[in-house]
Amino acid sequence: MEPVRKTIGVLALQGAFREHRRMLEGLGADTRLVRWPSELERLDGLVIPGGESTAIAKLLAIHGMYGPLRAAHAAGMAVFGTCAGAILMARDIEGARSDQEPLALMDVRIRRNAYGRQIDSFETTVPWAGIEGDPVKGVFIRAPRFADLGEGVEVLSTSEDGEPLAVREGRALAAAFHPELTDDSRVHAFFLERVVGS
Ligand code: GLN
Repeated sequence: MEPVRKTIGVLALQGAFREHRRMLEGLGADTRLVRWPSELERLDGLVIPGGESTAIAKLLAIHGMYGPLRAAHAAGMAVFGTCAGAILMARDIEGARSDQEPLALMDVRIRRNAYGRQIDSFETTVPWAGIEGDPVKGVFIRAPRFADLGEGVEVLSTSEDGEPLAVREGRALAAAFHPELTDDSRVHAFFLERVVGS
């Protein structure tokens, strides 16, 4: 039997949403760009892209998205945030601007712009629990650091010096880096197969 096609929204207020969409479509998902609450209806999952978390937060508020997005997640919609998206999913943001409200979808504390200027941006490979074969490719751009994880939060990826790079709590998945800016779609496949509808 053909697997049921999943419908995945990509939050398209600011940031690298086109790249996520391309990757998800390449994996056979139906996608929808999401800017307004009504566009959250009947989604199996939502991706919150990287970009600038202060700008995305401002637009989420202007578009009245905070309540509907939290409600859709509570009702079963999986959420995957990369970089700025991961920042917004946290319960607490260190280095947040005063008007930058977290979505608080995960019991994690995250620190914005946690790496020094000299390593502003780089591509590397990282291991990922549950993805077989080579480590996955990721681009780090002014990446955040997961500073404190609640009890129910599982670490899926860890750097060589022991920093968590990707975490999961139920139907919420967050990565400090950008898998969508590489040619490696295995993290998106993991989201579709293992987090959406779990
Ligand atoms: N530093 C950015 C922020 O705080 C995130 C960077 C990114 O998404 N690549 O929003």
